[in-house]
Amino acid sequence: MTKCDFTSVDAVWGNIARVVLPREVIAHRVKELAAQVADFYDGAELTILAVLTGSLIFLADLVRDLPLVMRLDVASASSYPGGSVRSEAFELLMPAKSDFEGKDVLIVDDILDSGQTLTRMVESVQASNPASVRTCVLLRKRRSDIVAGIEPDYVGFDIDDEFVVGYGLDYNHLYRNLPDICVLKPEALACDEGSDLS
Ligand code: 5GP
Ligand code: MG
Repeated sequence: MTKCDFTSVDAVWGNIARVVLPREVIAHRVKELAAQVADFYDGAELTILAVLTGSLIFLADLVRDLPLVMRLDVASASSYPGGSVRSEAFELLMPAKSDFEGKDVLIVDDILDSGQTLTRMVESVQASNPASVRTCVLLRKRRSDIVAGIEPDYVGFDIDDEFVVGYGLDYNHLYRNLPDICVLKPEALACDEGSDLS
């Protein structure tokens, strides 16, 4: 492991290899997703359960385009400890506070990778007897080994199976504030925690 320079934004953002989805493309697609969601839940009361932290920016953009009676709850999950770039053991760090009984629930997450997180979140909501549960992810990786049976109701983009950051998604707590969704240079994925800003 090498030490990386995290002492300036130029140094940190200099680790970007390539933009996968530019901000304008994301903004356009999020509006399309919001229109689909608004159309489906028209006249109903919607409860959104967002999976923190990666979904934060997607969530903020999505809900502002939903002219619905809507409540918002958050849960926090982790499957990418520290500097890993592959899902590992799922951990529910903070459960939702709401009672979902009788509610129409839409679970919002940033990205579907192995499918483990979304599967577990759906199970946890279903345990409280909701009226309905649907799922929405901004990104879905093209993987052949996604957990069987998990098919999100709303998907923003299907992307290649590579590790991405930006628009809420982090690597080792950094890059969430990048406006575009990007891939990092290989050497940036091999930094140790020595000079981590987080
Ligand atoms: P899954 O449980 O589907 O394997 O992983 C889902 C979670 O892993 C996502 O909610 C996200 O937090 C994280 N994740 C999966 N793929 C990526 C990625 O390419 N980049 C980042 N930053 N996080 C990812
Ligand atoms: Mg996540």
